[in-house]
Amino acid sequence: MKTPFATLLSLPVAMAAGLAAAATPAVETRFSDDGVLESIRIGEEVFATGGGNLWEAEFLINPGASAPGTGQTGASAPGAGQKPALESGWDDGALGAAPGAPCPVPGAAAPGFLTVAPTNATSFAKSKAGGVIELSWRGIPLGEEPAALDAFVTIAPQPDGSQKWSLRFENRSPRHALLRTRFPMLRRVTRDGEGDALLPWQDHGAKLFRRRSAQPRPIWAHYLGYAPPVAAFFKGETGLYFAAEDPEARQKCLVESGEQDIYFDTLPELGADGPGYATTIAPLRGDWWEAARRYRAFALQQKWAARGPIKDNPAYPRRLCEIPLWINIHGRSDAVSNVLAKAKQTYPDFSTGLHWHLWQQSAHDINYPEYFPAQPRVKETIDFCHSIGQEPMPYTNGRLWTVTTMGYLLAEPYAAMKTDGSRVVESYASVNNPTKPPLAVMCPWTETWRRVVQTFTGRILDELGATSLFVDQVGAARAFPCYDPSHGHPVGGGAWWREGYARMMEPVRRAYNERGAFLTTEGAGEAYLDLFDGFLQVVERTPEDVPFWSAVYSGYTTYFCTPEDTDDDPQSFRVQQCREMLWGHPLGWFDPNVLDKPQKRAIVGQLCAFRQENLDALAYGNLLDELRPVSPLPEIAFSWKPRFKWRQGATVKHGTAPAVIGNWWRTAGGETVLLAANLSDREQTLEYEIFGRPGNTASMTLAPHELRRVPPPPETIDSNR
Ligand SMILES: [Zn+2]
Repeated sequence: MKTPFATLLSLPVAMAAGLAAAATPAVETRFSDDGVLESIRIGEEVFATGGGNLWEAEFLINPGASAPGTGQTGASAPGAGQKPALESGWDDGALGAAPGAPCPVPGAAAPGFLTVAPTNATSFAKSKAGGVIELSWRGIPLGEEPAALDAFVTIAPQPDGSQKWSLRFENRSPRHALLRTRFPMLRRVTRDGEGDALLPWQDHGAKLFRRRSAQPRPIWAHYLGYAPPVAAFFKGETGLYFAAEDPEARQKCLVESGEQDIYFDTLPELGADGPGYATTIAPLRGDWWEAARRYRAFALQQKWAARGPIKDNPAYPRRLCEIPLWINIHGRSDAVSNVLAKAKQTYPDFSTGLHWHLWQQSAHDINYPEYFPAQPRVKETIDFCHSIGQEPMPYTNGRLWTVTTMGYLLAEPYAAMKTDGSRVVESYASVNNPTKPPLAVMCPWTETWRRVVQTFTGRILDELGATSLFVDQVGAARAFPCYDPSHGHPVGGGAWWREGYARMMEPVRRAYNERGAFLTTEGAGEAYLDLFDGFLQVVERTPEDVPFWSAVYSGYTTYFCTPEDTDDDPQSFRVQQCREMLWGHPLGWFDPNVLDKPQKRAIVGQLCAFRQENLDALAYGNLLDELRPVSPLPEIAFSWKPRFKWRQGATVKHGTAPAVIGNWWRTAGGETVLLAANLSDREQTLEYEIFGRPGNTASMTLAPHELRRVPPPPETIDSNR
């Protein structure tokens, strides 16, 4: 089946090119007399009619915890005999779409825990005052303790028509501590085939599923990590926005059941009185871009965005956002110098970056974090590459310690601890490393792990003379709750995970930036925006991807790379590379063989040259919207081979894209420009809407494979439309 290019479908002119309609109706919520959610109305459209429990919670028998309700968190790990093993390993195959992923579906709690829900209450009451809805469930038993718990939900309307939904418990049990909440649980937000769903995803941040029907597998989008805590559902031009606008970046997981049920699964501090943040449900008018604009308005005010736009930040290492191409290699010094010398011969006009795995003494995913000593001639290779204007970037991992090293005998107390007292251990399969050695997830709060990371990153800067560094996984992997009371952070989840990495990485980033060097990590990790200069994005690309993170944070950081199998046919290669270049990404994470393939080499050269000519938009500007043609364009077919071929379920992605694609950008200088690409080998003429001028259109004709910047004022304006 061919899937249309999600972000590039033609949409009605009435959607008004980036301007939210002034009169978006407010969210209206209706409950039954026994507290079941009946519907959420936005104007004429009705959402979330599936009923069911509005919330669920799990409690842990925790003899070492302070009495819940005292405001203190647990003081010790759970007692012996509890082996629920609630948290399984982080699954690197997808956002938790595999069995054993760490956000179970409701009702699947492991033995040793109590799960409670509204149906356990002996009484329910509903009230409304000043527009605020208060729901209360009282007399909920916890184990043998009758009426130990009351639950309260508050739904507070906001001036912009949105609502803030909050959950809080009053827990009188001396033995049971709150472990986890699922709230607010909206079922059947839309029905099968009824609407479009924007759902959180790795790297670009979201996928747009048109006319979505039930799917066999749920989506678990962990936060912190790759994905935003945001989803949206659209019926026509009316949308329901579901998000955690959480300034403290608490650990949470946005779950979509596969059947358009949605909720946040939260592991707060053990013994907290609720998830600790409100969920925002807001009306939208338009399409998924409106969801991104709403989240951007929140996000740019947060502490992680406090460094401001990179164009205004003299400390930001501009070399990073001005490198248009990256090569990925697992190799030794001679391979690195040969590849970057060849890249310089091929593309003399710009700097090429190289992601260097295997500069260290042992193999990939082996002996972390014991990277030193380096392989022979690493410093000399880095110096040589700098001398010809190229950027070799060493690989490290900011999160894992190999369990089979001698060093782990000393480091084990500083790994993240599960509720059963064991440590969080993961393993990864890759083409370079079939042995899958066990790797412990280190707790970022601990001073020991902080100093280890600061030491090896410092040595790479000082001893190897690197001017860039990749710190794997920090911006991609989920946060873990940690139940080790000796670490000094609140036991369980909550807000401390980000603060642990902030204490670890802020001095590292400053040290690198002071020498003009840059620091990068994997994924998108929004709450680490102030700790890294860029985010490497290398998961599988699909036709449903939309540039959610770029729409939120473009101009504030650099998302880089456009990974693709260099064996894809030239047309398919052009489609993906143009798509992501126009979203602002530098190209790459290519196999070095891209330099040996004349057609791919030429496409890469053309696109990199265009990016270099438009850095004011693509590196320093803000991504505003997509090109919206007035009439449908011819479609271009493409097929993208899977990049992680060894993974189960790896398939070729087929799709179509309009013959001309493009995006509107606001440049660093304040201009609004359209950057467009003719993907086809024929001349294309089209009429399109002008961003910010509802009802006005312009037209253009593009030569085969032409890339064009359309400056203001537009070429033609038809104000009679
Ligand atoms: Zn810890």
